[in-house]
Amino acid sequence: MESALKQIVIVGGGTAGWMAAAAFARFLGPGFSIHVIESDEIGTVGVGEATIPAIQLFNQNLGIDEKEFVRATQGSFKLGIEFADWYAPGNRYIHAFGAVGRPLGLLPFHHYWLRHHQQGGTSSLWDYSPTALAAAQNRFSPPQEKPGALPSGVAYAYHFDAGLYAAFLRRYSEARGVVRTEGKIVGTELNSQSGFIDAVTLSSGVNISGDLFIDCSGFRGLLIEEALHSGYEDWTEYLPCNRALAVPCASANPLTPYTRSTAREAGWQWRIPLQHRIGNGHVYCSDFIDDARATDILMENLDGAPLAEPRQLRFVTGKRRQIWKKNCIALGLASGFLEPLESTSIHLIQSGIAKLLNFFPSGRPDQADIDAFNTQMDFEFHAIRDFIILHYKANNREGAFWTHCREMDVPDSLAAKMELFQANGRIVRHNEELFTELGWLQVMWGQGLRPRGYHPLADQLTPAQLQEFLSVAHKHADFVASQMAPHQDYITAQCAAPPLE
Ligand code: FAD
Repeated sequence: MESALKQIVIVGGGTAGWMAAAAFARFLGPGFSIHVIESDEIGTVGVGEATIPAIQLFNQNLGIDEKEFVRATQGSFKLGIEFADWYAPGNRYIHAFGAVGRPLGLLPFHHYWLRHHQQGGTSSLWDYSPTALAAAQNRFSPPQEKPGALPSGVAYAYHFDAGLYAAFLRRYSEARGVVRTEGKIVGTELNSQSGFIDAVTLSSGVNISGDLFIDCSGFRGLLIEEALHSGYEDWTEYLPCNRALAVPCASANPLTPYTRSTAREAGWQWRIPLQHRIGNGHVYCSDFIDDARATDILMENLDGAPLAEPRQLRFVTGKRRQIWKKNCIALGLASGFLEPLESTSIHLIQSGIAKLLNFFPSGRPDQADIDAFNTQMDFEFHAIRDFIILHYKANNREGAFWTHCREMDVPDSLAAKMELFQANGRIVRHNEELFTELGWLQVMWGQGLRPRGYHPLADQLTPAQLQEFLSVAHKHADFVASQMAPHQDYITAQCAAPPLE
């Protein structure tokens, strides 16, 4: 059956706009006109450099060659996020992607390790994670999975220049028929009966009409909020940081295959190594620290010479009440904002696109589809929100900001997760929430939560069997890490970007 919906208008050409355009061009097939409108005068937010492994799927589905993509975006590889000073000054842990040991029978690995730990064993949880061990040695090369052999347990993502990624996807999209218009939208025409968006008006006076509008206009939410008044759920009570300062600096050796997040007096600082520079930023709460002090902290903690003046961004953590309203779907910053502590914003764009394709309307959107989409997006945002709050809540740092975070009430959903873990080390992943048991495990342990017990079935192994089981898991992780090349060598050999002009 031919679709009555023909014209898709994407408002905004940042990461969100071009990811949407590329995916629609690839998956909707002929018969649709896809139009991206972006304003050079307004520009893009210009940050967003760290990702999670799911982005591999996005690129693979578009048929993008990994090495070409890494070269084009000055990219590097990411095995996880190191959290420095988060639990307490001097403490470090990593949220590593991929496996941490292997389940045995019904039981997740960590119950065996908890037994070992509670009986005085001294190995670290991360001794069993191939990616944590590789990250500590600054190694990276893609795992070579061999038939019949144990899976490597390695998962990875990328750091990249988001502006270059958008440019890369723009070339991809335009080659597949997407039309781009440069211009500033100054008005939105709503249908007087349905309230649906009929068209947007550019400052040149040109009207661009469409059947479906994708709002990728950034924080302001030009269509979803300014035209359709979706409303905003404000989560400042749980995530009080409201400002960020971003500054690139010169590269420093070695090229680390992980993002670093370092806790600061009223927030935290990111460090994201790319091929041509390091991206840095300071996320902070203006109720506890002023801009001048926040700038000093950032600039005093760079690994290389700054390459620009620090740029400030202001945000309110939360999400639109209805991410899809009438014939408008918001993606990216227009849909909501969660601070980049676990590099989830680009993933939320990807996830929004996948869900939209799943619920893609054949004509005028049905409210049942809209509601189902919104329910799924709400769930995804809430689950990520809880995971981010955990990093703040479970801290043992001094200072007014950290005391406030430690003492604040958290959502019941998170409180229940923390209690469950602290009882017997159990972690329940609800539905398809983004972070797996292994992600929760590493952050809960890393932030100092200590279970009182463990699953009783872990006692079924004799002490010698337990020793052997853990030793095999450690050797496997060690072996996988040792097979990887130094990260820099792999990039130099396989996907070094040409020097920038
Ligand atoms: P933008 O980049 O702001 O693009 C908006 C587009 O809309 C632009 O093209 C603009 O020109 C256009 N536009 C706006 N108004 C008009 C108008 N009137 N007329 C025409 N065009 C218009 N995400 C991650 O996944 N990992 C990270 O490490 C990460 N770090 C971040 C750090 C910070 C401090 C912040 C604030 C965000 C971070 N993000 C991160 C989020 C990430 O930057 C965004 O999700 C991503 O860049 C998508 O942005 P966007 O396309 O929604 O908006």
